[in-house]
Amino acid sequence: MATEEKIRKPKIDPDWRKKEESFFEILKKYPTVSPFIITQIDVQRRGVHYTDAALARLDPAIHQITKPHFAVYEGRGIPTSLLLRDGTSIIVSETSTQTWRDPYLIDVVDGKTVLVDEDRIIDEVEYWEKPQFFDKTTSRGTPMKEVLDARPQRYSVSMSNYCHFWAVPGHGCKYCGIGAGGVRYKGKANERFNADDLRETMLELVKEKGRFVGVILTGGSIFSGNEPFDDELEGYIAALKVLGTVFETPRFPSQVNSTAFNRKQLERLYYETGLTSYTTDLEAFDERIYKWLCPGKAAYISYDEWKRRLYDAVEIFGKGQVNTGIVSGAELATPHGFTSEAEAIRVDLEEAEELASHGVGLKHDVWNVVPGSIFWNQNPPSLDYYVHITKGFYDILQKYRIPTYMDSYRKCGMHPNVNLDRI
Ligand code: SF4
Repeated sequence: MATEEKIRKPKIDPDWRKKEESFFEILKKYPTVSPFIITQIDVQRRGVHYTDAALARLDPAIHQITKPHFAVYEGRGIPTSLLLRDGTSIIVSETSTQTWRDPYLIDVVDGKTVLVDEDRIIDEVEYWEKPQFFDKTTSRGTPMKEVLDARPQRYSVSMSNYCHFWAVPGHGCKYCGIGAGGVRYKGKANERFNADDLRETMLELVKEKGRFVGVILTGGSIFSGNEPFDDELEGYIAALKVLGTVFETPRFPSQVNSTAFNRKQLERLYYETGLTSYTTDLEAFDERIYKWLCPGKAAYISYDEWKRRLYDAVEIFGKGQVNTGIVSGAELATPHGFTSEAEAIRVDLEEAEELASHGVGLKHDVWNVVPGSIFWNQNPPSLDYYVHITKGFYDILQKYRIPTYMDSYRKCGMHPNVNLDRI
């Protein structure tokens, strides 16, 4: 395990295992939650490191490879992410994000690539395979893997690589590493997508029949325009029109994850493009926490207005085609977050119920502490908190009969509560 020893290890609380229930205790406590989902949550929460033997199994001709932000593997690439035996994705591209708990280890034992904790094998894993277009370039010389990103199930377009909230001191979302890192794109040729590159890459992508079930378009917020966020809206409309050129049907499986557009903007997004589903993340299910975590968003769109826009979106796109998410765990950050996991769970589930009663679907991301974010060095909550929220959100979706297909395991794989639907 030579590689593990070379990895930069920030603050790990040596007693963290004594302070919370173990993975195996949580498996017993939640018998109706799939062990694969609990594994997904805990690995996303704690992160992974790779042994030399595990990295030697990475084949650039087959696998999707990411260069870590930190030189933890002496410049070598690592698997972009992992798959469990049942197809559950574990999104863990950044390896050096954990501060308070030991990460899991990916090792090779008896010829199998396995997930290990304290020398105990948890399960077998696979590395994501890359699509064929990743090795091609556009006529402008742009590597196609920089034009479209891919997960096992879907491909994605980064409409804008620069989030304008970071232009105003103190306005970036506090858990966000994307926005902080995106400043380097400001004013550059690749600040926004290029239509020619996108068209050519799509023509290659559709040759891989059966590989993808849909696309997500997302990117940084752009608050300029005749009214706030009109320029962001125009960017999504333009990108969707390019995507639509390769489909024979007027609508195609697609999702935009953007800033919350107003009703007029949402109607344009729906009627001028082939878009099928829409998501805009509240990020926290509490107004006070929202203002603290996302001061830029709050300066433009109040918490209640964000919710109203979600309700408008349900009327336009339909129930089951609109959802919202939180960065779960960030509402417990210090110094202004909730002081107990029980309180965070109670508030999250109450607000989730209110949203679902208006037809809005729910999803949550497992917060891991991202280097470069304002919350670097914070302490994410326990596995028990995450599994409780996962089950709670799923039960609410069932109660209000909100379908999960817009972000199901076949389309996304990121959100544990939505992934429960496959069981
Ligand atoms: S809106 Fe917030 S979460 Fe999204 S990219 Fe900008 S700073 Fe990050």
